[in-house]
Order: sequence, then structure tokens, then C-alpha cells
Amino acid sequence: MKLAFNQATTLKNSNLSKDLNLCEKHGYDFIEIRTMDKLPEYLETASLEDLNNYFQSTTIKPLALNALVFFNNQSKEQYEATIQTFKDMLETAKTIGAPYIVAVPLVTKEKFLKSEIHKSCVSVLKELSTLASPYEVKIALEFVGHPECTVNTLSQAYKIIEEVNCDNVGLVLDCFHFHAMGSRLEDLQKVDISKIFIVHIDDTEDFPIGFLTDEDRVWPGEGAIDLQGIFSILKEKGYDGVVSVELFRPDYYNLDAEVVIKKAKQTTNNVLTKMGV
Ligand code: ZN
Repeated sequence: MKLAFNQATTLKNSNLSKDLNLCEKHGYDFIEIRTMDKLPEYLETASLEDLNNYFQSTTIKPLALNALVFFNNQSKEQYEATIQTFKDMLETAKTIGAPYIVAVPLVTKEKFLKSEIHKSCVSVLKELSTLASPYEVKIALEFVGHPECTVNTLSQAYKIIEEVNCDNVGLVLDCFHFHAMGSRLEDLQKVDISKIFIVHIDDTEDFPIGFLTDEDRVWPGEGAIDLQGIFSILKEKGYDGVVSVELFRPDYYNLDAEVVIKKAKQTTNNVLTKMGV
């Protein structure tokens, strides 16, 4: 299985150039690039063409742009800004050859009915699908396992994707988000595996549902997530996409970036080897 590195893992102790060099050195196949902070920082002193030239000359490749955030249930003005951001991301993805754009649903304290959330997500994702169709870029919806995220379980996200029913719209399955709001293995069993575009691997301290936050993530295999259950289903269903390690732990930001990048790969590989993936 191909391995990717998500830049959240070294959010506070690295930058894009450093992540690229270290990921290449340690044998990652892909990188997920953060477009809200790490890419703009890189572009202060270089261009997208420089980045593309880098990818052309090395073994590591771009996997996804992270992320188009909070795209559903927005005001008209917010929605127009989201569409413009997405158009810019499509151009970026085209320039550097990134095959996916990750889309994250609205996180809010405002209460929306599930039906309103579903309707808005379907409508926006259909429009994004149309905009992306001239590009070689797919949209990966990432549900977030937190009570304030409007789409926070696999089953809710999958219903949206099913109704959108476009080849270029699928899911990110993040093991932390799957665990954090109690998504069920039987729901994963029901998923058409071709609709899972990217898997985020991670683990977490054992806090109850509703209390878990991204900062609780730990090295894969060292926490409470049933990675065996998740990966045995992915294996059985023939998942052959990329597995991307994504941690947000403040403790790990105090470590040297190379130590983190090395250990993230090692712990991920240990889990995947154990699962026979
Ligand atoms: Zn994720």
C-alpha cells in the first residue's frame, strides 16, 4: 500500500520544503499539502512552478490539497467565497498534479437539522463536481468526528456521497474521525470501496465520544482505535488507495521534524504489516 504524509503531523515544527525533503529521504510516496497555511508560506519565496518542478524531479508526489473548509450551510457571501477558493484550488492542483482536493464540512455551534445539512452538502458537492470535471481532480469529503461538525459520522457522509453520485466525489476515511463519534464497522462494511479515495491513519487516547479532539491523536498502533477492525474491512474490500498518516499532537510538535516523520512512517508500517495490508 502506498504511504502519504499529511502536513498536520509537523504543523508547528516544519515547513513545506522541509517536509518534502524529509518525506522523500524517508521513503514516503505522497504528501498532502495544507493550503490554508503551509502552501501560502512556501509561496512567499517560491512559485507553484517551482513546486511542480520539484515533484517532477523526485519520487514523492502530491496526493491532495487540504482543504476546502466549511463548504456547506453557508450564507450566500460565504458560499461565493468558497466557490472562488475551490476554483483557485483546482488551478493549483492542476499546476502541481495533485489528484484530490479534500472538502471539510461546516464546524459550528449553530444547530442545523440533518436534512438541511444533507441537502446543502449534496447541492454544493454537485456544483464542485461540475467545476472539477474539466480537471483531473477529485473531491474527497472528510467527515470530522466532533459534535460541532455538521457531518460527523461515516454513515451520514456516505449517504451524502451516494446521493451526489458523481465519479469524482468520494470520501476521506480518517480513522480518528471514524472512532471519535462512534462510527460503526458495519457502516464501513456497507461502503462501496471505490468511494473511499484516501485513508487517514492515526490513533488516539481513550477519551469518550464527544470529548475527543485532534490534539488527542497518538502514533498509529499506540491508542484506542480499532485499527485492526477498520483495516481488515478495507483489506477484505480490496482498498488499494493511499494511506496517509495525519497526527495533530502538540507534544510531537516539540520534537524534531525528522524524528516525527521517521516515527510516523515506522509506526504506520508496523500497523499495516500487522494487519497484512
Ligand atoms: Zn484527516
